[in-house]
Amino acid sequence: MVLCLNPRASHENPDKVTQCQRCDFLTQGARIGNYEVLSFIGAGSYGYVYKVREDKPLSRILALKVLRLDQFNEKAMASFFQEARRIATMHHPNIMPIYNFGQLDNGQPYFVMEYAPQTITEVFRASDGTKRLAFAEELVSYVEQTADALRYVHDNGLIHQDIKPGNLLIGRNGHVLLSDFGTTLYLGMQTHASLGEVTGTAAYMPLEQWQGNPRRDSDQYALAVCAYELLAGRPPFLYKRIEEMWNAHMNEHPPSPLQWNPRIPAEVAAVLMRALAKDYHHRYSNISEFAESYAEAVRIAQQRYVCQNCGHQNRTGAQRCTMCGTEQDSRTCPKCDAPLRFGQRCCTVCGHLTIPPLMVPNSPLVGVSVRQGRYTIKYVLKQSEEKRVMVAVAYDTQMNNQQIILKRWEYTDGPLAQHAKEVAHYERVTEPLARLKHPLMPGILDRFSEGKHYYMAESYIMGESIAERLQRQLRPLPERDVIGYMNSVLNILIGLEQRQPLLRHYDISPENILIEDQRKRIMLTGFPIPLPASDTIKANGRRTTRKLTPSPYMPIQDKPFDQRTCIYALAASMHHALTNVAPPHFPTYPPVRQLNPAISTALEHILMRALSEDAGGRYQSYETMKQDLKPLL
Ligand SMILES: [Zn+2]
Ligand SMILES: [Zn+2]
Ligand SMILES: [Zn+2]
Repeated sequence: MVLCLNPRASHENPDKVTQCQRCDFLTQGARIGNYEVLSFIGAGSYGYVYKVREDKPLSRILALKVLRLDQFNEKAMASFFQEARRIATMHHPNIMPIYNFGQLDNGQPYFVMEYAPQTITEVFRASDGTKRLAFAEELVSYVEQTADALRYVHDNGLIHQDIKPGNLLIGRNGHVLLSDFGTTLYLGMQTHASLGEVTGTAAYMPLEQWQGNPRRDSDQYALAVCAYELLAGRPPFLYKRIEEMWNAHMNEHPPSPLQWNPRIPAEVAAVLMRALAKDYHHRYSNISEFAESYAEAVRIAQQRYVCQNCGHQNRTGAQRCTMCGTEQDSRTCPKCDAPLRFGQRCCTVCGHLTIPPLMVPNSPLVGVSVRQGRYTIKYVLKQSEEKRVMVAVAYDTQMNNQQIILKRWEYTDGPLAQHAKEVAHYERVTEPLARLKHPLMPGILDRFSEGKHYYMAESYIMGESIAERLQRQLRPLPERDVIGYMNSVLNILIGLEQRQPLLRHYDISPENILIEDQRKRIMLTGFPIPLPASDTIKANGRRTTRKLTPSPYMPIQDKPFDQRTCIYALAASMHHALTNVAPPHFPTYPPVRQLNPAISTALEHILMRALSEDAGGRYQSYETMKQDLKPLL
């Protein structure tokens, strides 16, 4: 006599029976192919998983999953094994390896895989063994590994469709093993699950999957729900009835995870919320981009939790340094110099970000003086090796310690004659800017060459760039404001166009459009300075200019650049401001209402025209664009 492994009620069966005659569960000690069934592990999608021992000589402990399929007709089985073979050929360190396939006596298919009893949920435990919430930084590697596996699955033409913590198993080496391709198999047969059958995973399924049109983006949504759940202790939607779940994923805006756990860094929450967008166009363009954005958000958040007193990197969300106990940071707000509390994201006095998105933390250049000690660097905003430029906020010690923006370009290593040529180049290209006295552009205060660098000092404008504002608010800017910004920038551009020689700003981006604090005027900054021609390198005997990474706000095809190029870049920047969805978009900027339905059709039309890839389809001048904008003001 043998007992079945039904966890609810074990039934007695005659000897040698492998499958219970009353409930279909496998029996204790049953022999399936080369495996002996040891115990029941749990229920996966469309089947039960058992712990088994492989026959000698390997005697490995493995897991065997029996699929419950609705119909076992020959065509369905053929299709099942075809898909199964496809999955068995996938080799990835983060995908559960499958060792064997077979059929039970009654025809039910099964497969044998690695035994990994722990799921990701069980990793996060307090010292007393109880479940605890994960810290954002603890998930970085798990998210990356899972995304990596999913990218591989997607590149193989499959969609997993059942990403949930229970399917993110942790192997013996601590790595993620993405498992349970049951749904992938199942849907490979082109049958759709009815509402009743998807109960187990309803919390993780996006709108399009409920509608029966799963896509790669659906796996991204599900992975974001997993991260959300591990950080917040619950998924975004929690309902008992499947109809309520369906309705929530279709119609309800997911609550921010901060609502359940206020210590989750805001930028991490923003990444999750984007991946949880109802419309898959709003999500990241692929799963890798989601994982990279998650890691980047954590990296930015972690900078705030480095103790300025003792240098200890604390966990995100910490309220004081766990090493030295300090609660007050020795940093001050970069804009208003107000003291900051530990880990604070925005200044309580002026509301600005305490770490602007561009700021380079702990740069060795901080405190360094130039021009015989006149300018002292306060903090580095940006450092680009590619463009060999550094931008910093500095004090002018000869002008009452007034703040200035210091830009620095590095000369190429070369003979003295070339050095002189480069100095002349910078003198020449910055000269029109130094002469330009425009009320809505920062004035050039000083230009000089020192050591290996050319410097330009610009007046510092108290304000916030559109990029910073988006980073701070983590939501789209109001349409009315954006229309105003657009009109102001157009006015500045028209003014520049009338100068002799005419000046064109070919680097319009949310970073370079500044909203002034005092009078709320729009300022245009970051006028691009071309690199010297000595940067042209000889390749295969031909002189080719070094290719810089193009700005995602610039059109791809324009040649030569003209007013219409600036029109495109302005519209692209405004598109970002109105949607809070950063480029690049593939293949090009989608209609703005697709990403933010609250925007008016009139504004969408203007942006669409300005964002035409073909310069001939755009506004041909700033004035014609301004005319169309006028009725909206
Ligand atoms: Zn039974
Ligand atoms: Zn400390
Ligand atoms: Zn402040």
